[in-house]
Amino acid sequence: MLEREIVGCLQGMAVGDALGLPREGLSPRRAALLFPNANRFYFLFGRGMFSDDTEHACMTAQSLLVSDGDPARFRHTLGWRLRWWLLGMPLSIGRATSKSIVKLWFGASLSGVWSAGNGPAMRAPILGVCFGNQPDRLRELIRISTQLTHLDPKAQWGALVIARAAYLAAQSSDRVLKLAEAVRDLISVLPAEAVELFSLIEHVGLSIEASQTTEAFAAELGLSRGISGYMLHTVPVVLHAWLSFPDDYRAAVQAVIRCGGDADSTAALVGGIVGARVGKEGIPQEWRRGLCEWPRDLRWMERLGHRLAEALASNQPRKSVPLSIFGLIARNLLFNMVVVAHVLRRLLPPY
Ligand SMILES: [Mg+2]
Repeated sequence: MLEREIVGCLQGMAVGDALGLPREGLSPRRAALLFPNANRFYFLFGRGMFSDDTEHACMTAQSLLVSDGDPARFRHTLGWRLRWWLLGMPLSIGRATSKSIVKLWFGASLSGVWSAGNGPAMRAPILGVCFGNQPDRLRELIRISTQLTHLDPKAQWGALVIARAAYLAAQSSDRVLKLAEAVRDLISVLPAEAVELFSLIEHVGLSIEASQTTEAFAAELGLSRGISGYMLHTVPVVLHAWLSFPDDYRAAVQAVIRCGGDADSTAALVGGIVGARVGKEGIPQEWRRGLCEWPRDLRWMERLGHRLAEALASNQPRKSVPLSIFGLIARNLLFNMVVVAHVLRRLLPPY
């Protein structure tokens, strides 16, 4: 049964996303000025809410639940979840993702647009946890999930590596994760054309061996002003934070948040990968209690994880876990208002 790993992955993403969100798009320097304490939430009076990253992870989990990983059914149900999700007017959504979902609404059979943004990576950790033991099926599910929104093969390779990372984390929770083994394994899932990502992953291994911090590693990649949403920027930095602290949720998430930039997505990914290994017990209690979320709260994620683990164990699709539509509308209204307040706040000092 994968319940512990699935719940740890979803909740780990939610908490990381919520911690990183106020800092999204800020340079490390400005983020430290505005939000000095890396241990607390700053979104809404000291509480946290999560963004599209966690929502995509939950939609992917629901799609696995009702399709039992059958590729055609998975594509159909995930496509519809993305369509309805866009109608909820999520803020701070990537351009490729919004364009391609509009295309889905107009009935395009190939909905993705040419982009190597990190959007598909948000849907990858849960796929890796659930189907990492079936490499061909995982590859197929990652292809489907990626091409719904992103067509540049780099997006697919990045998502595949993130999925594999989550699988390695979940699978090895009872033993020490060896750096060299993990690097070799991650590279082995890539096709020969993925040379650039291949050498970036090798670079991650060498950097950690040399005891470099994740921040210093990011600076070496030319990302000292923050991690961008480009897949080949996001993935190596996320892998670096994870492999630096594979058993320490707090340290791994803080290491990637300190790098600035797309902090909600990078912290969600690191949180999802480490969470799959340490489970919900490994996520700091005060952080789990600090979320202000409904109807998709941590308990709802536990129900989803429980049902998905049962479905996978019995090879039987199940009904999705219900969500109150009115609850979602009210939640999104509040969320969007707070995001606008943060955008305005950023116009003011300290700069
Ligand atoms: Mg986000």
